[in-house]
Amino acid sequence: MQSSSEEIKNKLDIVEVIGQYVKLQKSGANYRGLCPFHKEKTPSFFVSPSRQIWHCFGCSLGGDIFSFIMKIENIEFKEALKILAQKAGVELVYENPQVRSQKQRIIDVNKEAAGFFEQNLWKEKAVMDYLLKRGLGEETIKEFHLGWASDEWNKLSNFLIKKGFKSDEILASGLAISKDTDIYDRFRSRIMFPIEDSSNNIVGFTGRIFQSKTSLKTIRDIERIGKYINSPQTLIFDKSKVLYGLSKSKDYLRSEGNTLLVEGQTDFLAAWQSGIKNMVATSGTALTSYQLKILKRYNDTLVLGFDMDEAGEKAAERGIELALSKEFNVKILRLPEGKDLADFLMDKENKASIKDLVNKAEAIMDFYFTRAQNEGDKTNIDGKKAIASYFLPKIKKLNNVLDRSFWINKLSRFINIPDQALEDELNRLQEGSDESIIDENESLYQFPAAQLRSRIDGIAERIISFLIKMPSLKKEASSYESYFPENFQMIFQVIKNISSGKDLSTESLKKVNLPEGLINQINQLALRADYETELLEKFQVSIEEEFEKELRELKKEYIKKRLEGMEKEIRVAEKNEDKKTLKDLITKFNELSKQLLN
Ligand SMILES: [Zn+2]
Repeated sequence: MQSSSEEIKNKLDIVEVIGQYVKLQKSGANYRGLCPFHKEKTPSFFVSPSRQIWHCFGCSLGGDIFSFIMKIENIEFKEALKILAQKAGVELVYENPQVRSQKQRIIDVNKEAAGFFEQNLWKEKAVMDYLLKRGLGEETIKEFHLGWASDEWNKLSNFLIKKGFKSDEILASGLAISKDTDIYDRFRSRIMFPIEDSSNNIVGFTGRIFQSKTSLKTIRDIERIGKYINSPQTLIFDKSKVLYGLSKSKDYLRSEGNTLLVEGQTDFLAAWQSGIKNMVATSGTALTSYQLKILKRYNDTLVLGFDMDEAGEKAAERGIELALSKEFNVKILRLPEGKDLADFLMDKENKASIKDLVNKAEAIMDFYFTRAQNEGDKTNIDGKKAIASYFLPKIKKLNNVLDRSFWINKLSRFINIPDQALEDELNRLQEGSDESIIDENESLYQFPAAQLRSRIDGIAERIISFLIKMPSLKKEASSYESYFPENFQMIFQVIKNISSGKDLSTESLKKVNLPEGLINQINQLALRADYETELLEKFQVSIEEEFEKELRELKKEYIKKRLEGMEKEIRVAEKNEDKKTLKDLITKFNELSKQLLN
């Protein structure tokens, strides 16, 4: 019987799936594009439709459709399986609920809770009225599954327990807090915004306080309990990683070519209703490099849609620096009179013009430059210094040399100080501040470095890949058989035994009963062969010629390794004064060395 993962692989076209993340172009039997996992200017990322694999010859990452989704979405195999099963229309057989992973249980708890909150909202007229009065439409409330957590201590917890969840699971989801032996609801008297991950799982909630009747009257009361609270960190929720709205907006991010970044759900939903779909929201955190990395998959222009008054600028500073260092175009949405987006959009006319405003957003450096001009009086030296000391650190954050020199020149003309002097001052600025750009989340995105291979492995790999491409070369290779490293002997045998005249197709591999690991290895090498032959053609070198050269190299490497081993043996023999062995070894050593010279 076919496993689910095989069935999914057969139903999905790897080119189509990867093509949603990477722009692919046909190249011979394969497709190629710019690698999404490392920075490059010429494409070395390959996808093979016939072998259903991908490989990057720049950073050596590769695998099948599952490993691609795991890496690019930063998820585990199980989740990748789920996403792809959905795409392929394959139904997965779920395990017994008891053995389901803890993560899945939290997702289940959240889903039940969201449904519960949502039902409650539609029954709670006062809250609904408030939302409608704030300008939210019923359609939006439905679309984003807004809910209501009433002002009771364990209404939700009791409901969830009745649904069969254990207290531990409810606590693990962050929806309840334990006190002594009891648990009580974390979110009470709050309008609830479920937060989805990019695969539409509800991973957490934001709750906004809403008091219709009771005790909380003063602003201080509200500050004390928090106007907005988020789910705490759980196995599946981390507010510094999540981007509200991404599950619904990701296609628009790609098609519009820019992302409006807003702060909080209220602004998000207001703008969504006004027709802005290429948008995400952070929830009470500064932008992290983790989030930027996600956004970079879709486009590289970021429009900041929050208030950039002095306090706002300070709060956003680090996120902006991170974005600039990752070579985003950062822009600022300018709203009149420092209004926040939701208020601004209460007005009908503003609603109609918002899209235009987003598209005309001001480049961050222009914004900074305008601000710099107010830092001092450019006609005296103190003023010039003040302007430069505000603006130079902004220039320093730019990665691109042309950008830097453009802005230095602009500043130079404005304060009438030579470029070179500003350049010197820029270089004097402490590099130290750049450290803040290293984000603790970064490490999550670092994939295991390409396996360290010895030179002989590299050569053997190349030879084998040529053999896969042109099995007729095997005759020539057979006299070199003993020089292959052990881990390649098996593949070599397989090729010797199967090959007809053509290349080792996936079909011919399926006919022989081979271990899966070996098939994978052969497929990877086959893709490599396509890549290599394409390069050889470009440089007008024949495969045969290259093949012979590599065989000679293989032999050389092999002998070198043997010689290294013998040197050690010789030293041992010398130490033991074992004259006979020593003599034999030296004779052999000399013979082998001679071969190396041939
Ligand atoms: Zn790569």
